[in-house]
Amino acid sequence: MSSPTAVEAMLERERALFIQRNPTSGKLAQQASRHWLGGVPMMWMSEWGTPHQLFIDKAEGITLTDADGNTYKDFCLGDTGAMFGHSPAPVAEALARLGARGLTTMLPSPDAAVVGELLSDRFGVPAWQVTATATDANRAVLRWCRALTGRNKILVFNGCYHGAVDDAFVRLDDKGRAIPDPGLVGEVRDLTATTKVVEFNDVAALEAALASGDVACVLAEPVLTNVGMVLPDAGFHTVLRELTRQTATLLVIDETHCMSSGPGGYTRAHGLEPDIIVLGKPIAGGIPAAVYGFSEALAARAAAYMKTQAAGHTGIGTTLSGSAIQIGMMRVMLETYFTESNFDRLNALAERLEQGIAAAIARRGIDWHVVRVGARVEFMCCPDRPRNGSEAARVIHRPIDLAVHHFMLNRGILITPFHNMLLIAPSTTADDVDRLVETLDRCMGELTL
Ligand code: PMP
Repeated sequence: MSSPTAVEAMLERERALFIQRNPTSGKLAQQASRHWLGGVPMMWMSEWGTPHQLFIDKAEGITLTDADGNTYKDFCLGDTGAMFGHSPAPVAEALARLGARGLTTMLPSPDAAVVGELLSDRFGVPAWQVTATATDANRAVLRWCRALTGRNKILVFNGCYHGAVDDAFVRLDDKGRAIPDPGLVGEVRDLTATTKVVEFNDVAALEAALASGDVACVLAEPVLTNVGMVLPDAGFHTVLRELTRQTATLLVIDETHCMSSGPGGYTRAHGLEPDIIVLGKPIAGGIPAAVYGFSEALAARAAAYMKTQAAGHTGIGTTLSGSAIQIGMMRVMLETYFTESNFDRLNALAERLEQGIAAAIARRGIDWHVVRVGARVEFMCCPDRPRNGSEAARVIHRPIDLAVHHFMLNRGILITPFHNMLLIAPSTTADDVDRLVETLDRCMGELTL
């Protein structure tokens, strides 16, 4: 067991060490605080919880160099945006080549013909569209689902995150009632009027929520990945598909994080049969891009629907979506990284990481556990696997996470700030994995003294 005093002492010590190691970042943080809202170009950047912001000068493969010249092995990888590493050679080469040929024209480039085929081949659905972010993809998908079903409600799982998608910011409170996410800024609608929310793995609640036949779609990650990691119970996805089919509810699988499972995402690895798939973040190597793909039957419905549409703005699509640079980058990513052989290697190293952490947890007798979805590993500072968002939320974002993150950061290992997620990239080595395990092992040792 770790003790609260050991956690507090570690955090205090590590925060002092952070300040000592990062004087240049400290000065940059002061300067930046004058002209950025909250001191950073994007609010989430301050969520690392460090005494001041850390500034990264260079990111290459999985090695980051900060403004003071300290280096880090990066297991956060831009929270999946750089899942295949930072500017690896094929990405850097493609960016230089494509960047010299025009970035955006409002017309497709020849790569579009190939990328459509690659996406369909890898992910198994035939009709795709590009957006600038996964958030945008999910927003467009919700619009399509409502249009094609004529229903106004959607359903999400408690603890989900699908980007800055207004409709998905509904939670269950501690009495199991749906409420708008208390953190949501500037929302004026009652989102609970059109969004239903049930716990992940709760078949009875799902069945009851869909029974009224007023839900356009279930928007789901195959594994909840934004509240630690919550795995589906055996058979949960089968039931989810059966219930959505029985009630003519569309099933949207958001693979933005779970594409760590393999070259066709969790969907292909586990034989899911969604109506719509969403992919974001690393799909174009880290430049803003995402895609959503429709099943054949849904694509036919969408085409028929468009024939009935009045002239006017559809509310779907943005100027910089589908650009030559996005499509060209997707081609490189799909051809180079969305392959069985690439994922075989990633999975093997991720398994080494999972086993290494599990062994260290057992050796130290600390009440944590570790979970893995392909190349994505998460250690959770609680003894048992949570089965839903409420259970998971109770054990993340605690002081212990912050103390562990600081300890790791000061010893050159970066893990995701919001919880304890670790990603393996093609340039991650067995030595990098072993170093992480040893560092975490030492950290556990200090916490259990
Ligand atoms: N879907 C999932 C499952 C996500 O985790 C996220 C972001 N973490 C998004 C969508 C949104 O991605 P973006 O912020 O790039 O729009």
